[in-house]
Amino acid sequence: MTRLVLVGPPGAGKGTQAVALSEKLRIPHISTGDLFRAHVGEQTPLGQEAKRYLDSGELVPDSVTNEMVRERLAEPDAKVGFLLDGFPRNTKQADVLGEILGEVDTELNAVIQLQVSEDVVVERLLSRGRSDDTEEVIRRRQQIYVSETAPLLEYYADILVTVDGVGSVDEISARVLEALRDRT
Ligand code: AMP
Repeated sequence: MTRLVLVGPPGAGKGTQAVALSEKLRIPHISTGDLFRAHVGEQTPLGQEAKRYLDSGELVPDSVTNEMVRERLAEPDAKVGFLLDGFPRNTKQADVLGEILGEVDTELNAVIQLQVSEDVVVERLLSRGRSDDTEEVIRRRQQIYVSETAPLLEYYADILVTVDGVGSVDEISARVLEALRDRT
């Protein structure tokens, strides 16, 4: 159970949970949002291209995103497995992920859905204070989650593990680990 994807609406606590889980499972945490923010901070060409999408809450074009993920997954630490956080964000990206993994004869073991109510999500985002956490951008990111990302739940129905995302970080990671154990 080492090739995993974490999905959930913005504010579901994916980033926090991904850090905890990747330590417990000893696999790298790969967050496309973090990768983009690093590029923006370092003002690389990719960062200059991605910035306006991050600022507005829109998805960075698939061609840019997929290439970045392909390169990251080719790094040696990802050979033992990985926990993807924020990728795939739509079914086209999911197709590409399937191709990347298929090229090295592997596949995803599970997709973990963190389930939280909309009230909790909005409350968490407003207290987070990230520069793209203005009310307008938050709203846009939620819309995009519903229209673009939520279809992944159907796409990955066979390997989907749904976990209640309300509670302490440790409570939630214990739930995830138990749910993963039940699947093997
Ligand atoms: P996150 O840190 O996952 O909330 O992502 C922050 C922002 O990065 C998003 O609002 C998008 O603009 C961009 N982003 C992150 N992951 C992806 C992805 N898989 N595809 C396209 N854009 C992404």
